[in-house]
Amino acid sequence: MEEKYSKIFKKEIPTLIVVFAVFLFSFGYGVFGTGEEREEEADKIKIVTTTTMLCDMVKNIAGDKAEVTGLMGSGVDPHLYQAGAGDVFTMENSDVVIYNGLHLEGKMGDIFENLSSMGKTVICASDGVETSHLIETSSGVYDPHIWFDVSIWKEAAEHVSKSLCDADPKNSIYYEENLRNYLGELDDLEIYIEDKLKELPEEKRILVTAHDAFGYFGKAYGFQVEGLQGISTDAQTGTKDISLMAKFISDNKIKAVFAENSLPKATINALCEAVQNKGFETKIGGQLYSDSLGDEENGGETYIKAVKSNVDTIVRELS
Ligand SMILES: [Zn+2]
Repeated sequence: MEEKYSKIFKKEIPTLIVVFAVFLFSFGYGVFGTGEEREEEADKIKIVTTTTMLCDMVKNIAGDKAEVTGLMGSGVDPHLYQAGAGDVFTMENSDVVIYNGLHLEGKMGDIFENLSSMGKTVICASDGVETSHLIETSSGVYDPHIWFDVSIWKEAAEHVSKSLCDADPKNSIYYEENLRNYLGELDDLEIYIEDKLKELPEEKRILVTAHDAFGYFGKAYGFQVEGLQGISTDAQTGTKDISLMAKFISDNKIKAVFAENSLPKATINALCEAVQNKGFETKIGGQLYSDSLGDEENGGETYIKAVKSNVDTIVRELS
């Protein structure tokens, strides 16, 4: 009986050796291979951003030295965004929180203050923009839509990069180099905009949108901009008189008005109808990326792509 088992055992010895060798190899790889990768992963700083525009900017600067999480998805309106318990948890468990500021994230002000008083590194991107470059509205507040002027967005990017270098000094050379590359890409974007806009005569540069997001765009590139709602989509800011706006469109024979990807289309549809009642025909000239970028499926998923798409749409529809 014993002899029988001993024979079976002897027969299986080569198999056992192979299994043992595989085990040793995997163990070794676990310690020396993936272990290092795991360490690198744990070494990355955790950054949380609010809007999709900021998330994209920070990913360009932070590269693979940080884990960047964006709270707001594509198509989300930052003016009305309420941070849930999960968002607060994510921010509390990060190393750095980056937000736009100038009350863009109108419902989150207290949260940033709390995080800051807890000792968290909280970066306000618009702090990097020179005050004289900001647009002051008739109600005495600054327009928060700073990403619509590429040169102003560059100031914000420089501020974010500098603050990241302070928060994570061991990677500062890497961040600075990424910033330089990104600023170069934004320089190219400005040239693209300038060239494209040459196709649109000055008298046709009237941009009517669902809310007043395009003030910086108008100022930078010579457009008169009219939004149905004010600089915030919050109901308290009110809606302009649709009938007066319809008269303006009809009087100026504006061929197209624009919907926005972060807002419902109801008000802009109502405006088109009101224009029709005045005996003029205007159309919805497509959708612009306003307070949010697009997504991989439908395009406009990066800041550069979204800006190009906006400029292409505006020039095509107003020409
Ligand atoms: Zn807005």
